[in-house]
Amino acid sequence: MAVGETEGWVTPQKILVFLAHPDDPEFFLGGSIARWTGMGHQVDYCLFTRGDKGVNGRIVDPTELGKLREGEQKAAAAILGVHSVQFLNYEDGYLTPDINVRREVVRVIRTLKPDIVVSCDPTNYFYRANRINHPDHRAAGQIVVDAVFPAVSNPLFFPELRKEGLEAHPVKELWLSLPIAADISLDVTSTWNLKFEALKHHKSQITDEEVLRNNLWSRRTPESSDEHPQFLEHFRRIIF
Ligand SMILES: [Zn+2]
Repeated sequence: MAVGETEGWVTPQKILVFLAHPDDPEFFLGGSIARWTGMGHQVDYCLFTRGDKGVNGRIVDPTELGKLREGEQKAAAAILGVHSVQFLNYEDGYLTPDINVRREVVRVIRTLKPDIVVSCDPTNYFYRANRINHPDHRAAGQIVVDAVFPAVSNPLFFPELRKEGLEAHPVKELWLSLPIAADISLDVTSTWNLKFEALKHHKSQITDEEVLRNNLWSRRTPESSDEHPQFLEHFRRIIF
């Protein structure tokens, strides 16, 4: 794994972050998103769901919760300098890879024409010793991977989109967060506090800011000292 490696992008890139729920971009790669916007790259979000089932035991109206979380997501994205946030209207918890949702993803990618697409690793079932990765996360990763190759760049896939003026568009790179096997780790020490500030906006998900702060602090690298902490975010990177 290459720690402290840089992206090597010499011109401003258009980066599309495509994930399942509000708060996924910030939790998975908020430091990297702030790093990229700080370097002058454009970052846009597309989220499959509004996270309308994302509560801990409290029963609330899913539509109300979805609206609330949409607002929280936009506020968090603004902290990180994100250019735009859009939502597809899939129901939280039921995201399933099929040809129709793949077409929707191809439509978004061919519309925004990003250089770089970021999602998460669909093969990651158990991301920590005591955690099962949410099925929507795996589904989102699967759908995006399958859209990026081979569909987005092949005009014979979804020819109906060409009637909408959406031509085939090859992306240059695919980055997967929460990877089983990382091959690049970005140093996000300088933007770690922005990640925390952004996450604080997900108030429906964060019951205690101190717990969040401690959780983020605990993720410093083993080589860190208290005076000089170092934070990394890990990816699998595919350069086409
Ligand atoms: Zn999530």
